[in-house]
Amino acid sequence: MDDCLFCGIIGRKIPAKIVFEDDRALAFDDVNPAAPVHVLVVPKRHVPTLNDAGDGDLAGHLLNVAATVAGEKGVARTGYRVVVNVNRDAMQTVFHLHIHVIGGRPLGWPPG
Ligand code: 5GP
Ligand code: ZN
Repeated sequence: MDDCLFCGIIGRKIPAKIVFEDDRALAFDDVNPAAPVHVLVVPKRHVPTLNDAGDGDLAGHLLNVAATVAGEKGVARTGYRVVVNVNRDAMQTVFHLHIHVIGGRPLGWPPG
């Protein structure tokens, strides 16, 4: 999609620090990190929200990538959180499905 920020990163039109890539997914550092580790895992295909992911294995694959990235970033043992913001009440701002992988410090619960 031409006007989608994350499609721009996937197409290498917008720079990002890419930390993982396979045929279906890309992971890159969040530009405004909320913790020492803050990575976004996105499908390469434009999917606006989790509501649009369908019942195939895409969402499961993205979660597996999130766990891989957590391992590569060194937080798999200490702990991390995966977050998917969906639409207005969750304050989704980029409408290309993404999983936040956040770690490297103790995280409060419940989230605000
Ligand atoms: P959301 O609120 O939609 O769940 O999260 C969007 C995330 O995208 C935010 O954490 C924000 O910091 C991140 N973000 C916004 N613009 C860019 C960008 O141009 N590059 C990268 N790497 N991350 C971005
Ligand atoms: Zn997109």
